[in-house]
Amino acid sequence: MSATPDQITIPTDLLPGDGRFCCGPSKVRHEQVDAVVAARDTLLGTSHRKPPVKNLVGAVRSKLSTLFDLPDGWEVVLGNGGSTVFWDVATFGLVRERSQHAVFGEFSSKFAEACASAPHLGDPTVVKSDVGTHPTLSLEDGIDVYALTHNETSTGVAMDLRRPTGTSADTALVTVDATSAAGGLTWNPTEVDVYYFAPQKCFASDGGLWLAACSPAAIDRIGEIGSSDRWRPASLDLQIALDNSTKNQTYNTPAVATLVMLDAQLDWMLDNGGLTWAAGRSAESASTLYGWAEARDWATPFVSEPAERSNVVGTIDLDDAIDAGDVCTALRANGILDTDAYRKLGRNQLRVGMFPAIEPSDVEALTRSIDHVVSTLS
Ligand SMILES: *Cc1c(COP(=O)(O)O)cnc(C)c1O
Repeated sequence: MSATPDQITIPTDLLPGDGRFCCGPSKVRHEQVDAVVAARDTLLGTSHRKPPVKNLVGAVRSKLSTLFDLPDGWEVVLGNGGSTVFWDVATFGLVRERSQHAVFGEFSSKFAEACASAPHLGDPTVVKSDVGTHPTLSLEDGIDVYALTHNETSTGVAMDLRRPTGTSADTALVTVDATSAAGGLTWNPTEVDVYYFAPQKCFASDGGLWLAACSPAAIDRIGEIGSSDRWRPASLDLQIALDNSTKNQTYNTPAVATLVMLDAQLDWMLDNGGLTWAAGRSAESASTLYGWAEARDWATPFVSEPAERSNVVGTIDLDDAIDAGDVCTALRANGILDTDAYRKLGRNQLRVGMFPAIEPSDVEALTRSIDHVVSTLS
């Protein structure tokens, strides 16, 4: 009789140096935790209205501008609540009347739902495609926000960011949920107005903050709605967030340790060559993972179009004869964590975080470990 999954021992020389492959929260490098320890007397437990913490917020804002090579006039705005809260912030402070959404998985559907249920907005247009692919938006009269998702974390589909084409008399904003992409995929600010994310994925920090890089057109829209008589809860008011951010503070108290870890990750990325370097690490990991799956007759990249395969979140379908849940159980018993598929997708699948903090050599070690588990299980 073969071993039960949790009894399988993967030989030590096959194991990755770090077993964290979660898609969020994701691997935090030890150096970032060291930065928190180094901040124990100077930043932690000090006022967020005094220079040490305000300078930290300022450093995060300016390092993000450098990392993304933001043109003049852009602002990095931040507040509490993570990307999910930013969807509500955007329904109150960015959508004037009607939005159009590219929906291709769980996360991209959420902003569309937020707009659909907001009593002050008209019905959004939803352009859907099957999971494992992404739709393309086109210009439409009456639309003032186009909502894209750079990387659909539930399916492992990434999309190139482009302004929608076609004809429309309206000037509209392009907003991008970049929660799992920011820092791991490249993009061009000329194609985008609002690029928002939270720091627990490529930035290898903790959750709970939202950050949004905003173009001059987005700043204008924030001002237009901010001076209108639309009711906005203060904690979701983008004008209030913008006013605080330009003073290097948040409207209410932020998690200081989260900012310290984010800042340390930004230093690491910038010191090593910036976004091209960070995205290159994820691209190397992705090439290893997809190449490995294609070479196995029992594994297949879920995203069939190679150009749409994500470099930061890899999804690999397994043959029905191999239970992905058993594979994850065996991996977990050996310290390799969180390779499970997105639950609601309901596929016999492994999902692997390949954010910049994850060593490309560890992704290779993961594939060797999976080979070992599968050969032992069958
Ligand atoms: C993780 C994720 C979110 C949710 O982020 P929170 O900070 O937990 O609200 C939203 N969108 C995408 C694409 C994500 O990957």
